[in-house]
Amino acid sequence: MDYFKILDDSKIMCNLCSHYCKLKLEQVGICGVNKNGFGKLENLVFNHPSALHIDPIEKKPLYHFLPSSKSLSLGTVGCNFKCPFCQNWQISQTHNIDNSVNITSSEIVSMAINNGCKSISYTYNEPTIFYPYAKEIGLKAKEHGVKNIFVTNGFQSHDMILDMKSFVDGANVDLKSFNKEYYKKELKGELDIVLNNIKEMVKNGIWVEITTLLIDGINSSAKEIEQMARFIKDEVGDFVPWHLSAFHPDYKMLDKEHTKFQTLQIAFDIAKNVGLRYVYLGNVKNDTHTICPNCHEVLIKRDGFFVSLNRVQNGHCFNCNYKLDGVFS
Ligand code: SF4
Repeated sequence: MDYFKILDDSKIMCNLCSHYCKLKLEQVGICGVNKNGFGKLENLVFNHPSALHIDPIEKKPLYHFLPSSKSLSLGTVGCNFKCPFCQNWQISQTHNIDNSVNITSSEIVSMAINNGCKSISYTYNEPTIFYPYAKEIGLKAKEHGVKNIFVTNGFQSHDMILDMKSFVDGANVDLKSFNKEYYKKELKGELDIVLNNIKEMVKNGIWVEITTLLIDGINSSAKEIEQMARFIKDEVGDFVPWHLSAFHPDYKMLDKEHTKFQTLQIAFDIAKNVGLRYVYLGNVKNDTHTICPNCHEVLIKRDGFFVSLNRVQNGHCFNCNYKLDGVFS
């Protein structure tokens, strides 16, 4: 699997994400961290994470993937999108790489094991732009039984989407809107590619949960929420959890207000009426319990990112033995 293709006149094409940047010698792509260095793709953030923390898996958010386990979470600088509401913009929208930080893939895996983390999450910024580093870590992690998670905007290239199954076990994918124009103009991405990549990930056996940051007046109309819910149900699967998260003013959207609770509640009701099995509200103080779709018993109780009760037994409901969707062992 090639991370780049050689074009003529010492130009190369980066094959990591669907921007497919064509790079002249020494030129850096849209993400700011992949460069044509002497006719080869040079991933400038390889071994240079800018953020490294141990998080509860619920923080990704993944609610149906080894609940209450710890995930070693890392990110670098740079991003292939330009979302004006980015809540990690301090690292995603800078290209200042701290080369004094050097952490090899083996060191990352050892850190995960020594800290009792069941997974490594590639998160905070878009992992596709540091795919070569993520994959080197991920393959080593896999040898030690540590799982790998992508928290992603879903804009991988066709080749990367197919390659992900070689080490990625779970993903939380952002579905930021259902408006093609908005994706293109404001985010600098493409809705159709994201939709297709979500379907590919599920088809390839990666456990997927979807997150939508709801912003009043931007992507919160009943029509758009229903379109997203129908896409998930009809084209991906009603078993895919959907996280509806509240926006808070950040980066270039300081003039927008916090998402109203009522907006989230309406979106929740629409999603449930469409027929999604698992819908969760995020970034608000609210019940985020997992309910058995069959007998309606509470299976997992959460208080924020903390799991206070887990009554899933070997992946099944303790009460009616319904097989809960997700990865539980
Ligand atoms: S990762 Fe995407 S944005 Fe970055 S250089 Fe490659 S194709 Fe361009």
